[in-house]
Amino acid sequence: MANIISRSMVSRYQRCQTAGFFAHRISLKSKGSKTQVALTRGVEGHKALENYYLTKQAGGTKDECLQAALKSLDQSIKENSEMVDEFTQLKKIMPYYVALYWDEPWEVVEVEKQYGTFLDNSTVEYGMRLDLLMRNTKTGDLVIHDAKFIYNFITDDEWKLDSQLPLYIHTLRKNGVDVKYAILNQIRYRELAEFAKYEEWQRNPTQYFKDHPRLKTAPPQPDLEKLFKRTVVKFKPEMIENFVRKFVQGQRMVEGLHSMPENEQLLNSTMALDKMVCGKCAFKPLCRDIINNRPWKRTANILYTRSDYGYTESAVEDV
Ligand code: SF4
Repeated sequence: MANIISRSMVSRYQRCQTAGFFAHRISLKSKGSKTQVALTRGVEGHKALENYYLTKQAGGTKDECLQAALKSLDQSIKENSEMVDEFTQLKKIMPYYVALYWDEPWEVVEVEKQYGTFLDNSTVEYGMRLDLLMRNTKTGDLVIHDAKFIYNFITDDEWKLDSQLPLYIHTLRKNGVDVKYAILNQIRYRELAEFAKYEEWQRNPTQYFKDHPRLKTAPPQPDLEKLFKRTVVKFKPEMIENFVRKFVQGQRMVEGLHSMPENEQLLNSTMALDKMVCGKCAFKPLCRDIINNRPWKRTANILYTRSDYGYTESAVEDV
């Protein structure tokens, strides 16, 4: 069977080989770190959109589609009771999303489909899961829609040096799908004061004016463009080739590390040991153990659990 090496694996290994080992070789995820909260929010947010678009594809009404997304988020709350606030926030955002995008000229072609391809002549496969393949009903163009749940919008400078969408476009084309370009479907989860004010007024106008006696008029409807942004992302063929070539170098590095026995891989892995990189890393406790010559596996068994995401082996134990 081919060895599948995804972009998130390569990115993680490029930031720090030791972090790559913990996340993708022995499949650890931290119980409740900020990074984990962000990941879980993204995963569950994608599930809500998946249910929304599957219902839309099946011909559901606007309200049925919205209800499918909200039901999905209710399930997320049940399964992640420590993240009630995060998912309640997403539930508040969904009706605005539907109001803004319902009438757009997009036909749903595929939802959350898995694709893979060999980027070079090696045995290493690239694997990806596409959020949405959409057809523009005016032009007939097939277009990738990739959702991001983010605090602040991604800037043009940032996406232009990000290999994810060029790799997606390349992979779909290699699979015979004539995709024209991609759209970054950005959804901000940040609490915005004007939305909170508007919702307070909507819930109970009389109480709103009692609580704010100096205000005489209802707050204006909030600007939805502060919450949602769709960015058209296009790359020339030679740029896509360069992204692919550089990514393959990263895949080869990961393949080399994964060909070693686990202990040997850890011994041979570089450690970032840099406050900018380590500051946001969920594996700091394990690296503190390694640097102090303490047994890191005991800490791993206490603070971490098995990651559902990823394509590889163990999740520690033998201490
Ligand atoms: S804490 Fe630093 S050295 Fe350790 S895995 Fe994370 S990034 Fe690498």
